[in-house]
Amino acid sequence: MRITMIGAGYVGLVSGVCFADFGHDVTCVDNIESKVESLRQGVIPIFEPGLEDLVRANRKGGRLHFTTDLAGAVSNADVVFIAVGTPSRRGDGHADLSYVYAAARDIAKAMTGFTVVVTKSTVPVGTGDEVERIIREERPDADFAVVSNPEFLREGAAIADFKRPDRIVIGSQDERASEVMREVYRPLYLNAAPLFFCDRRTSELIKYAGNAFLAMKITFINEMADLCEKVGADVQKVAKGIGMDKRIGDKFLHAGPGYGGSCFPKDTMALVKTAQDHDSPIRLIETTVAVNDTRKRAMARKVIAACGGSVRDKKIALLGLTFKPNTDDMRDAPSLSIVQALQDNGANIHAYDPEGMDVAKDMMPDVTFGADAYSIAEGADVLVLVTEWDAFRALDLRRLKPLMAQPVLVDLRNVYPPDEVRRHGFVYHGIGRREIS
Ligand code: NAD
Repeated sequence: MRITMIGAGYVGLVSGVCFADFGHDVTCVDNIESKVESLRQGVIPIFEPGLEDLVRANRKGGRLHFTTDLAGAVSNADVVFIAVGTPSRRGDGHADLSYVYAAARDIAKAMTGFTVVVTKSTVPVGTGDEVERIIREERPDADFAVVSNPEFLREGAAIADFKRPDRIVIGSQDERASEVMREVYRPLYLNAAPLFFCDRRTSELIKYAGNAFLAMKITFINEMADLCEKVGADVQKVAKGIGMDKRIGDKFLHAGPGYGGSCFPKDTMALVKTAQDHDSPIRLIETTVAVNDTRKRAMARKVIAACGGSVRDKKIALLGLTFKPNTDDMRDAPSLSIVQALQDNGANIHAYDPEGMDVAKDMMPDVTFGADAYSIAEGADVLVLVTEWDAFRALDLRRLKPLMAQPVLVDLRNVYPPDEVRRHGFVYHGIGRREIS
């Protein structure tokens, strides 16, 4: 199969490389010249474990190409995936589909022969219909089908997720296109990954419903955590206790500083907007969005309380900035709101993140960045664990304590056993755990 991937970001690049690894001939197109140039040189513009090696191997195998020439890449393709960004539209929270529609127009102009155009980007219900309309308008003569194939990979584990997905959702009512999609994913369903076929609108909604459900699950346990703190219960055990019920499941029940990242915030908001537009509001998700929004600044208030009620002129050491470990993605990371709220209250922020600092530097101009956890802890009044990178899971507390002005640890991910931290002479504050000293 000759596959063209429009957009070489977190999704397009990973999907393209994995398809090449299955033996397909893949061309990744991006309109940022510097990105394409560095990919050609073997320099990966994002941090994703395992990606660099996979790109190198498939480049060497001659199955993976990078270009800015969309028309050239599309003209010979059997399948063209659209994997461009669909961020929140400024002002109203709807998904901004301008990149998707622009790509559709460019694809239409260039395609020859029967072409399957697949939206891999997360797009609201009905977008496939509009993509089809645009292509038909641009090229009334074209032989094509538009398919929805949402992506469920998680940054940080993207390659494993892509190669061993729980399911592959394909929204298509065109038998020829469905056959092509079966062929594209054949190497995967030989590995027993179920292909789930449905109509295009249902497929588009599955992606949003899935993300909204997960965001709601996180928000549920976060609210339980707040209640635990008030009543003297332990949210870790509540999560475990309910998670053992198979109807609930134990995933996505980790209390923390609120969900962030490039998907959940924008996708929950876009679903809320779609539902309102169709006069079918989804109150549960409206509430999820509102609760999560307030949670991040509430985390800053937790830090302020841990510092005795004021952080003015205090030194705060933040461990982890990205929205989760093993990625450099800073989009909508909870750390952004937490840092802002602490700075609003007069704090001096020192931070360290293993992969996120290059991007964070532009987004957090008044933060001082350090070389590791220990260097930023020097003279700090509080150490705040924001993102649970492996490097922060086994800090040497004996070494840390004498470095700090005050031995206080605010653990927003419940990584540390409170008793152990307290035994080392620290004041410990977790999430949804009994606050005893
Ligand atoms: P991204 O911003 O990392 O990548 C998008 C890329 O598309 C950019 O490199 C951009 O330069 C390029 N692009 C935009 N318009 C183009 C055009 N006309 N021609 C060529 N290239 C173009 O975004 P992402 O995180 O990869 O997300 C892409 C889509 O996948 C979004 O809809 C997102 O919601 C969805 N998604 C993302 C994830 C994730 O974990 N990041 C997971 C599942 C689904």
